[in-house]
Amino acid sequence: MSSNATHLQEHRLSWLRPTLLPALVALIVLVAGGVALDRQTNVLDEERARAVVLAQVSLIRAKLEGNINGNIQLVRGLVSTISTEPRMDQDRFAALVSNLFEEQSQLRLVAGAPDLVVRMTYPFAGNERAIGLDYRKSPAQRDAVLRARDTGKLVLAGPVDLVQGGRGFVGRFPVFVDTPAGRTFWGVVSAVVDVERLYADSGLTDRSLTIDISITGKDATGGDGTRFFGPDLTAQNPVTASVILPSGSWEIAAIPRGGWTATPGSFWRRAAMVAAVALILLPIVITGRLMGERQQHFRELKSREAELERLSRRLGLALDVSKVGVWEMDMTNGRETWDDRTNELYGLPNDGGSRSHDHWKAAVHPDDQEKAENDFRRTIASGRYESMYRVLLPDNTVRHVRSVGALYREPGVPDKVVGVNWDVTADVALNEDLRRATQLTEARNQELEAARIRIEHNALHDSLTGLPNRRYLDEMLNRHAASGYEGTGSIALLHIDLDRFKQINDTMGHAAGDAMLIHASGVLRRNCGDTDFVARIGGDEFVVLTTASDGDIYLGTLAERIVREMRQPVVYEGHQCRFGVSIGIAADRQAVLDVKRLLINADIALYRAKARGRNRFEFFSETLQAEVVRTKRIADEILGGLERSEFVAWFQPQFDAKTLDVVGVEALARWQHPTEGIKTPDAFLQVAEELNVVATVDRLILEQSLAALSRWDAMGLGVPRASVNVSLRRLNDEDLIKGLRELDIEPGRISFELVESIYLDEGDAIVGWNIDEIKKLGIDVEIDDFGTGYASIVSLQKLRPKRLKIDRQLVNPILVDPAQRRLLASIVDIGKSMGIEVVAEGVETMAHAAILRDLGCDILQGYAFSRPLSAADFETFLVTKAWRKAS
Ligand code: C2E
Ligand code: CA
Ligand code: CA
Repeated sequence: MSSNATHLQEHRLSWLRPTLLPALVALIVLVAGGVALDRQTNVLDEERARAVVLAQVSLIRAKLEGNINGNIQLVRGLVSTISTEPRMDQDRFAALVSNLFEEQSQLRLVAGAPDLVVRMTYPFAGNERAIGLDYRKSPAQRDAVLRARDTGKLVLAGPVDLVQGGRGFVGRFPVFVDTPAGRTFWGVVSAVVDVERLYADSGLTDRSLTIDISITGKDATGGDGTRFFGPDLTAQNPVTASVILPSGSWEIAAIPRGGWTATPGSFWRRAAMVAAVALILLPIVITGRLMGERQQHFRELKSREAELERLSRRLGLALDVSKVGVWEMDMTNGRETWDDRTNELYGLPNDGGSRSHDHWKAAVHPDDQEKAENDFRRTIASGRYESMYRVLLPDNTVRHVRSVGALYREPGVPDKVVGVNWDVTADVALNEDLRRATQLTEARNQELEAARIRIEHNALHDSLTGLPNRRYLDEMLNRHAASGYEGTGSIALLHIDLDRFKQINDTMGHAAGDAMLIHASGVLRRNCGDTDFVARIGGDEFVVLTTASDGDIYLGTLAERIVREMRQPVVYEGHQCRFGVSIGIAADRQAVLDVKRLLINADIALYRAKARGRNRFEFFSETLQAEVVRTKRIADEILGGLERSEFVAWFQPQFDAKTLDVVGVEALARWQHPTEGIKTPDAFLQVAEELNVVATVDRLILEQSLAALSRWDAMGLGVPRASVNVSLRRLNDEDLIKGLRELDIEPGRISFELVESIYLDEGDAIVGWNIDEIKKLGIDVEIDDFGTGYASIVSLQKLRPKRLKIDRQLVNPILVDPAQRRLLASIVDIGKSMGIEVVAEGVETMAHAAILRDLGCDILQGYAFSRPLSAADFETFLVTKAWRKAS
């Protein structure tokens, strides 16, 4: 139900409830009284009416009884006569009956039926048709007739419809005749009483009657019989009376005409009663209504009052709790009203004294007075007032006050400003704290942000050179992979590796190394464009990303420039440092960049640049890649070969130039390749160098040489010495000496051939130390390939080798070139002067051998005597003394 409907219903109910209660009670009392009175009156009325009716009924009953019995008495006389004159004929019968008819009676017809057949009637005229009627064969009359005969008593029937028309009561009188044989049944006399006449004579049809009558008991059957007169009154509580007949009775019922209810005066009485009730009730109802409304108003007023009370209490509480003070100012005279809290706010007593603008002004902090005044003055213009200022209290504490107000205008009343003010000191302090906290947070955030940027920068940059690092490069490459390089769709990558950086680092210290790296990064940055990306991705490795769209010539020029500049010596703490760079370049000009591939390709090119002697650049190409693949395969095979001991020492004998005795052998590495046969060092040494396994090879050869020497000793072949080649890396090995000591080498039987360039490197502490130690172990030091490098007399003096071995390139031309012979002669002279033996290698003919012997060479080695031989072949060579036959 909607609230509206509820309200409506409540309204109706309330209308009914309290105010109408008296009216309701009065109504009930009045109605109850009225009904009782009405009923009482009705009972009296009815009884009176019944008496009236009964009086009339009694009269009629009496008349009916009288008339019926009168008629019967008349006929009984006739019956008595017939008993004595059974043979009576029509005439006699008519004469007797006509006498009866002269009496006052309602008889209409009398018939005589001896033996139950009608033989006589009176009056005859009009009734001739009845003569001969046999009652036993007349269904309408047989029962009554036989009953009369059988009971011997009068049977009264009717009213019945008569054959002659009209209706009548028929009395059947049995007639018995006294004969000498006793009483015998003669027949029946029927007398018909005229109904209408009987009714009229009994007063039933009187116009003066005031009652309705019904008579039941057809054929004298009494109250239970069939009604034959008047309407059915049984339901109307009729007055009844019985009409006693000679053979039964009738029942008369009567009610006042129109019924009992139509008692005259009852309607008006009731109307009067209703009017009286209304007269009594109306004022009560009206008064009730008025009372109700008054009470309603009263209640509303009370609830409003309570609400107001509640509101004002709440407001009071709110003001109290919030410490809000209320003030008011009369604009016409400037007089102000302050409440207690306002006084407290401004440090004034609650003395109820009058306040003015001056009181206020005096309390406001001097520094804020001007502003506060201005704020107030604006109020007049805008109608609203809002201000915040400090109040200087008598005890010199400062309080922050916020004041708001509004101009209040009403006709007939002076303009006012009404306002509230409250202490906001705590808020101000809080705001101040917040502001400070925010500032701190902001500063902190800035620091954090700076730190974040720093960290991010650090994460992506190399701390030494400030260049982007490996991670940054990867990010860059990924970015380019996704979006192409600077929109050009082509990208080139220069992979730059410093040569000899490790030596500088090792010999001059890390500070020097760092300085070189910083210098190198500077060179790179200077030579690259602003949009180029320069990164340091490892110890001495750099990468430059640049566009590839300007072509290979541009890239080549750039690389060339870098290589050239890097070659320039750098002075560090007074020392000139030299290093170089190798650069591998890869370019990608595909629509879709493959940056991973790019990096690998540049690496391959770099590898090649290094392999080709460093200080240079190489472009990546498909052939290069194929080579690299091949090298890779060889490298794998070398490593496998080392594991399978496929590297073996072959031996080339050396001879005393004068006696041609075998004075030693040079052990040379050979690789017994499982499918390709014997391989010489040129096929694997470079790859082995790159794989950093040459030192391993060297050591293998040394061990095999030592084993061969002892074997040959045992065989009595008398090979005094074996020379082995020693790679630079091996000389750099700090553990070299330790390993050599373990081999327990017999002094003078092993010679180390060091390539000229090795000991010419200055300041190589480990190499120098190793060489000294090698000598101490009784191992000869020999300078290999003498004359091809830049060996100086000074370095020879420093190194003091046992022997020097003139390179075969110098030896070869001596047959045809006298100048070359002179060069050799001077080398021999130098050796001699320094006490260094001179070996000549590459002695291909005995003619060479002769010249070299003559020039003063001590030892000869070459094809003229023998090629390098496997250990077995060499042993055969020694045993058979094959060279003696050749020479
Ligand atoms: P190398 O030290 O100058 O060795 C001598 C090379 O000259 C050998 O080549 C040898 O076969 C060749 N040879 C000898 N007599 C003649 C001649 O009459 N005419 C000509 N034209 N050549 C002659 P191989 O065996 O191929 O060795 C080449 C280089 O490989 C060696 O040059 C050496 O530097 C290096 N090598 C060989 N074995 C080893 C080793 O075990 N360790 C190291 N580190 N290097 C080795
Ligand atoms: Ca050699
Ligand atoms: Ca050599």
